Amino acid sequence: MRFTSKIVHSDRRDPIEHGSIHKPIHTAVTYAYDDARDLAAVFQGKKSGYTYGRQVNPTVTALQDKITLMEEGIATAAFGTGMAAIGTTLFALLRRGDHFISSSYLFGNTNSLFNTFATQGIEVTFVDATSSDAVAAAIQPNTKLVFVETIANPRTQVSDLVGIGDLCREHNLIYFVDNTMTTPYLFRPKDVGASLVINSLTKYIGGHANALGGAVTETGLFDWSGFTNLYDNYKKGDVSGWAIQQIKKKGLRDLGASLGPEAAHHISVGSDTLALRMDRICGTAQRLAEYLDGHEKVRKVYYPGLSGHPEHDRSASLFRHHGGIFSIELVDDVDCFDFINKLDLVICSSNLGDTRSLAIPVAHSIYFEMGAERRASMGIDDSLVRFSIGIEELDDLLTDFEQALA
Ligand SMILES: *Cc1c(COP(=O)(O)O)cnc(C)c1O
Repeated sequence: MRFTSKIVHSDRRDPIEHGSIHKPIHTAVTYAYDDARDLAAVFQGKKSGYTYGRQVNPTVTALQDKITLMEEGIATAAFGTGMAAIGTTLFALLRRGDHFISSSYLFGNTNSLFNTFATQGIEVTFVDATSSDAVAAAIQPNTKLVFVETIANPRTQVSDLVGIGDLCREHNLIYFVDNTMTTPYLFRPKDVGASLVINSLTKYIGGHANALGGAVTETGLFDWSGFTNLYDNYKKGDVSGWAIQQIKKKGLRDLGASLGPEAAHHISVGSDTLALRMDRICGTAQRLAEYLDGHEKVRKVYYPGLSGHPEHDRSASLFRHHGGIFSIELVDDVDCFDFINKLDLVICSSNLGDTRSLAIPVAHSIYFEMGAERRASMGIDDSLVRFSIGIEELDDLLTDFEQALA
């Protein structure tokens, strides 16, 4: 089956009470056993079952299975946020003295998290991930993992996803890809050799800005048998499932960054229309980017769908569409705050992946705390405005941009 047919019917493939077509919201924190031996078997991993809500919940499990289908992976762990997904995964798999390589074109909060890991004895090197050469040059004997985003936010650099995948395979490194901006509908990181895929469910997958969530999917491509940071307790069953077991069982137990059942339900319902929304959003983003490119008040438009974008060909060859995010720099005498304030339909807000179009002055908000020097290294100009395009009709958005720029 194709993408949407598969996911809208995914819940009911397992029997659900009363033939319910959605997985219901299970709010119970804990589960009762008639036979104490069954409870022991579940705790010891000999039987599957539910014990305590920090690690497992039936509504969350149904969503995890849906994300696994989307990514064509083998298992998924869900978390309370996308940041929790990234943080818990690294926390569960890396140890003091390990090193990892990250793209320097990074979601601001992920950049903050990685710098925190560095203070805790897990070393990180930031590189220009648009070229696998820069990644190759940063590999050390203690390097364990490479982290990249597909299309970076806000400047829309597209990582050398194929080249880095080859490099990771060659050097036996975990390839951890953030697919939030492309979603499994536009791109499957498994196709370029990713070992683990993270999606912020808060963004396009949930899609309606009404629930926070994150997920990490195991693709089954990495050989975990030689990875020395895994505990014997989690080396059960097929070797491809060892790391995700450690992330779920140890990561979620230790850090407790769990996804709640209500949020899982909202995200699951939202995800049914992911493909429909992405077709619409990306089509509109393309047209708006083309309109703004060359406008007299706009100095620069960053969108992988424009032929002048440095990674346009790469984006066209890898992704179904070029995404729903673009950024612009305004000419010197146009103030970015004034421009955003003049927009009427487009909302000034920090989120992305909503059904509504959003704009934010990035240097003055989400990238403010990191300072001017780091912003400059990420190519973030003071006048940069990032747009996350929603599902409104194109003509209404065009009218709004026209009047605001006028
Ligand atoms: C938003 C975002 C995250 C973090 O997700 P939250 O759910 O907000 O914690 C991670 N990566 C990217 C690319 C994002 O846009």
